[in-house]
Amino acid sequence: MCGIVAYLGSKDAYPILINGLYKLEYRGYDSAGVALIDNKLSVYKTKGKVSKLDKFVEDKNTNGFIGIAHTRWATHGEPNKENAHPHYSMNKKIAIIHNGIIENYPTLKEELKGRGYRFDSETDTEVLANLIEDVMHNESCSLQDAVLIALNQVVGAYALVVISEEEPDMLIAARKGSPMVIGIGDDDYYIASDATPIIEYTKNVVYMNDEEIAILKKGQPLKIKTIANQDKTPYVQELEFNLNTLEKGGYEHFMLKEIYEQPSSIRDSLRGRLRAKEGVVSLGGIVDFEQKIVHANKIIMIACGTSWHACLVGEYLFEDLARIPVEVEYASEFRYRNPIITENDVVIAVSQSGETADTLAAIDLAKEKGATVLGVCNVVGSSISRATHAGSYTHAGPEIGVASTKAFTAQVTVLTMMALRMAQLKGTIPTSRFMQILHEMEAIPDKVEEVLNDGGVAQMIAEKYKDATNFLYLGRGYNFPVALEGALKLKEISYIHAEGYPAAEMKHGPIALIDKNMPVVFIATNNVIYEKVVSNIQEVKARNGKVIAIVTKGDKVVRGLADYVIEIPETEDMLVPLLASIPLQKLAYYIAVMRGCNVDQPRNLAKSVTVE
Ligand code: GLU
Repeated sequence: MCGIVAYLGSKDAYPILINGLYKLEYRGYDSAGVALIDNKLSVYKTKGKVSKLDKFVEDKNTNGFIGIAHTRWATHGEPNKENAHPHYSMNKKIAIIHNGIIENYPTLKEELKGRGYRFDSETDTEVLANLIEDVMHNESCSLQDAVLIALNQVVGAYALVVISEEEPDMLIAARKGSPMVIGIGDDDYYIASDATPIIEYTKNVVYMNDEEIAILKKGQPLKIKTIANQDKTPYVQELEFNLNTLEKGGYEHFMLKEIYEQPSSIRDSLRGRLRAKEGVVSLGGIVDFEQKIVHANKIIMIACGTSWHACLVGEYLFEDLARIPVEVEYASEFRYRNPIITENDVVIAVSQSGETADTLAAIDLAKEKGATVLGVCNVVGSSISRATHAGSYTHAGPEIGVASTKAFTAQVTVLTMMALRMAQLKGTIPTSRFMQILHEMEAIPDKVEEVLNDGGVAQMIAEKYKDATNFLYLGRGYNFPVALEGALKLKEISYIHAEGYPAAEMKHGPIALIDKNMPVVFIATNNVIYEKVVSNIQEVKARNGKVIAIVTKGDKVVRGLADYVIEIPETEDMLVPLLASIPLQKLAYYIAVMRGCNVDQPRNLAKSVTVE
């Protein structure tokens, strides 16, 4: 989820670009870079934050009235200087910045290598730079035609800007699946991933649509066409936002923005890995270890906090689908309790930041004992991704809010794909059933979208119970980890005491807490134990507890019993956590806001726990 800025006009480009990058740094800060044309095309880049780039170029020539700049959140290739954007093409005449993932880059790269192209980075982006050069060379065409032809060969998602030393008064931008906005000044153009870097210069903007290419030429009106080469009329709008709201994309808090990003973060985590029609689910990062997992004596999943809840969902999935025994461990316990680990075990360490100290220590221990250790992390190049033998990234984009939301659903998405692949390899699932789940999985981002548009129900329930001092969250089967995660979200940001429990365990203790002041959140979706959960709801109602229930759309029985219900669309039982966790995130969020809590930076908590 990188940040992109570009400028073309009669002002010095560098100050506009670097200030723009500072504003987009929330989108990632693995590395930063800038390309400027002052007769010659120059690219400057550094590992780390934008301020490092700013320092690095102090003694360089930063003249030029045209330039592109990028702050990276790596998806392909570790966060180092070589992988930083902009990327030159091989002849160093073209430079490109990109946000997104080019899925078919391995094939394109091999073809280009066959035609003599060399690569300096491990990124998918550099492949596109060389592809554009190759097309220009073969077809003897202009930059804009070459970009158009190249994009027709590309599968994946992108927001990109290209410049060429040979056409120094032109920017070519394109978008598919990643955001991009163009600012139109008096005699200049601005491009950025969101409008924050633009708003101080102009309020007239054009939001690009998917599969569009924009041609920005000095002294000429903006031209937009589709990648099928159809001309389009640019739709110019006037910006009405202020800077502060824009950085959060119009949301009041990063947490809310991240909750609403889940359709796209899940889509990004599935991208290039799941193709339902072809019956393919494949996680590139662990291909070489698939046989090891399939034949594992047992899988041990280790994590902390929210990631531990994702692992619990993973346990149910792996055992249910692939029939491989799984243990889920708190990293902090595992590392100190002399666990039994053998060379035939596979450890899967899950962490958003990839820096969690306890998880890192647990990985070292597992490796010492000879186990194969895989990682599921969100941050490319993080310590855990380096310490493990292999792994799969979650591609959720940077998560700024301390309470994890989109990272959780992305972790569950990746673990679901792993479990499905293992089931396929192990032959523990009939093909028709496998295909059915794959199709349902592909539909999940749209269903998440549907859950997010709840017509304000979560907010209304939050208003009702914001003053409660205790909450109970109950669920069974796949919904038990959802209950734990719902309770954790509420605790973290609203400071209300909340407990998650398997619904049937309630009668072994927590039932004593229930009275008319106790809200109890049930996840009571349609599944084989639905009737049992209905009985648990009856038990709470009989003691005057207040029931809030997450139910499957069209549910009548629980609706008749509960004080409030939130509906989610019908889906496979194993995929319910991806939908049911969302209203619980929203409920926690609104309660915290109504109680005046600092949602993005809750007291005593830190985003990445690098101490034990
Ligand atoms: N795939 C590109 C890279 O890894 C862009 C990353 C992104 O936009 O998240 O450099």
